[in-house]
Amino acid sequence: MKNLIIISAPSGTGKTTLCKGIRKIFPEINWSISYTTRFKRPNEIDGKDYNFISRNTFDKHIKNKKLAEWENVYGSLYGTAKKTLNDAIKEKLFLLLELDVKGALKLKKLYPKNTISIFIIPPSFEDLKKRLKLRNTESEDVIKIRLKRFEEEINYKSKFDYIISNDILDIATNELVKIVKQIRRDKNNGFKNITI
Ligand code: ADP
Repeated sequence: MKNLIIISAPSGTGKTTLCKGIRKIFPEINWSISYTTRFKRPNEIDGKDYNFISRNTFDKHIKNKKLAEWENVYGSLYGTAKKTLNDAIKEKLFLLLELDVKGALKLKKLYPKNTISIFIIPPSFEDLKKRLKLRNTESEDVIKIRLKRFEEEINYKSKFDYIISNDILDIATNELVKIVKQIRRDKNNGFKNITI
């Protein structure tokens, strides 16, 4: 059953913004809350946007094999709990995940029968630069590293099932809504948390 829906994109493309929009539109859909050691941004809520944990706790989760995948993204660790995925599979829940590109590819490999993947691209490299600057959450140096990684990550877009360009936010959101609805319709036979 294809019930793990992964939304992924290079940093600054707008995946968090799009996911927030989708969460508002489909409040009934389950969300995978990642663990991270990254600092909490002012607009984020612990336990809702991420489970913000210390490096020490994260290392314990790795050691205890609690994570299905984990990544070092620009010096911060991000991971997905195995339990979240296994519960969703067992209970036939439609689960949305927001993941970095490497994490998305890893989960696709680990759960090939359960995943559908969506890759978000920026309208242009210039737009991406502007967005990262405007977001104002990282230093110039960190932004440079993210932009460099973009060139590598964009090569993976063909591995994803869908590609959406996030140019005008409302249009990109609508495209995402259409895909989510399509998946719900196609796979409606079993989802326990979705009624159409
Ligand atoms: P990501 O989660 O992929 O790193 P964010 O969602 O944090 O990206 O978005 C990066 C910045 O770009 C944010 O400041 C956000 O408000 C802005 N942004 C997102 N989508 C758009 C869009 N379609 N047009 C203009 N700015 C956008």
